[in-house]
Amino acid sequence: MKEGYDFIVVGAGPAGLMAAKTAAEHNLKVALVERRKDISRWTRADCMMFYGLEGGFLGEDIQVEVGKIIFPRNGFAVSYRGGLYPLYNWRVLSPGGQRIDFTSEKPIAAVFDKGVLLRGLLEDIEKLGVTVLTGTLALKAENTQKGAKVLIKDQGDKYWLEARKVIAAEGINSRITESIGLNKERLLMGRFKVVQYIMEGVENPYPNSWIQFYGQSLSPFAPLHFLQTVSGERLQKLGAIRPEPGNPEDDLKQFIERGPYASWFAKASIVNKMGVTVKAFMPLERPVTGNLLAIGDAAAFAEVENQGALMCGYHASNALIKELEGENGIEDYMKWWNRSFEFLNPEIQRISQGYAINPYYEDEEIDYLFSLLEGEVFAGSINQYKIPKMLWDAIFRHSERIQKERPELSKKIGEVHKMTLQDAFTVEQEE
Ligand SMILES: Cc1cc2nc3c(=O)[nH]c(=O)nc-3n(C[C@H](O)[C@H](O)[C@H](O)COP(=O)(O)OP(=O)(O)OC[C@H]3O[C@@H](n4cnc5c(N)ncnc54)[C@H](O)[C@@H]3O)c2cc1C
Repeated sequence: MKEGYDFIVVGAGPAGLMAAKTAAEHNLKVALVERRKDISRWTRADCMMFYGLEGGFLGEDIQVEVGKIIFPRNGFAVSYRGGLYPLYNWRVLSPGGQRIDFTSEKPIAAVFDKGVLLRGLLEDIEKLGVTVLTGTLALKAENTQKGAKVLIKDQGDKYWLEARKVIAAEGINSRITESIGLNKERLLMGRFKVVQYIMEGVENPYPNSWIQFYGQSLSPFAPLHFLQTVSGERLQKLGAIRPEPGNPEDDLKQFIERGPYASWFAKASIVNKMGVTVKAFMPLERPVTGNLLAIGDAAAFAEVENQGALMCGYHASNALIKELEGENGIEDYMKWWNRSFEFLNPEIQRISQGYAINPYYEDEEIDYLFSLLEGEVFAGSINQYKIPKMLWDAIFRHSERIQKERPELSKKIGEVHKMTLQDAFTVEQEE
């Protein structure tokens, strides 16, 4: 057993780093445990956008400025010394070339450099005296009489670290959250692989855009995604997602070589690859047990996003500091957590599966539906909870026409829109 800490934080993603920083700013003794050797080197798939700059996303009106990211509603700011690339458009493309644009004159998202963001936070916590254990795996956590403890594997060495509070910020695969029993009641929706290519020389006619390529023939589970990096159009990112055991790289290769937009990639080369396998659980409404609080993606359904992870880290430490002072910080955190993240809203959970397109509709049906919206202009947003609804609401304005011209498709739309997330995954697991 090693010396005792006030807080142990597992995971040095944005949630864990922000939690460690907030606690250390209150003079607490903090240990941060991270399995990666270099915290500021980020190789996991990530589009690295700050979203929702038009306001209202994740209960925040985030402001991205040179030098800092401001969270006015949550009451804090984070310094960020890297570059930014603005996005003004969400463009949705069908396999046959139909395009729907969600466009704004002001940036709706900004692409950033995650390595720089994490490095800045790391420098801050090192200055504040946090013990940073890199290349160190947390194996499990347990509550104790006075706090909680974490079993650590550091090279061949295994030992327990003990603290008054433990923050599990280990990301979506949630090993520590699982080890303490918090995943027992969570529905596992599946394991998904994501692969992203960073490419040079792509001739993309739509700069400053997050683009989704719809079409079952392109990728059966979810649309392919494409956007610029912080280096702008010089380096762009193309990504695909598939449930295991599928390989999203097959979709990327086919798309680049033979897909309907292959001409964009004729002179392109792959300069880097990023990937991740995620275990997606339904979110935890109450991610706490005894002295362990699970935060960020470890407690979430899909992604809290980098900005949401920073918010979790900030609020988690403040909540646990209140607990140490004898106040009820956990209840404050639970209220904030359930209020801020759209994926915890039962109504959004209920309807969001109905918005899915690729798994249910043939390429030709997607071309037809998108063609109904030709010439219409939509308000810009990169908010994954808002845009699918806006898209379907626009399609539904043509319901009578669809019913008349394509009665079978109209019936299918009605059925798919009744599906809940749970329905969709239960059907897939039974097959
Ligand atoms: C394909 C894809 C695209 C995305 N695009 C965006 C985007 O454009 N914008 C955005 O804001 N968000 C995006 N996200 C989401 C974003 O990456 C996450 O929501 C965010 O990183 C969550 O932060 P976190 O700190 O909770 O967890 P993570 O960032 O996952 O950090 C967890 C940390 O814990 C470490 N760890 C894990 N297990 C252990 C263990 N047992 N012991 C020690 N250390 C451990 C990991 O190495 C990691 O450093 C994307 C995600 C994916 C998959």
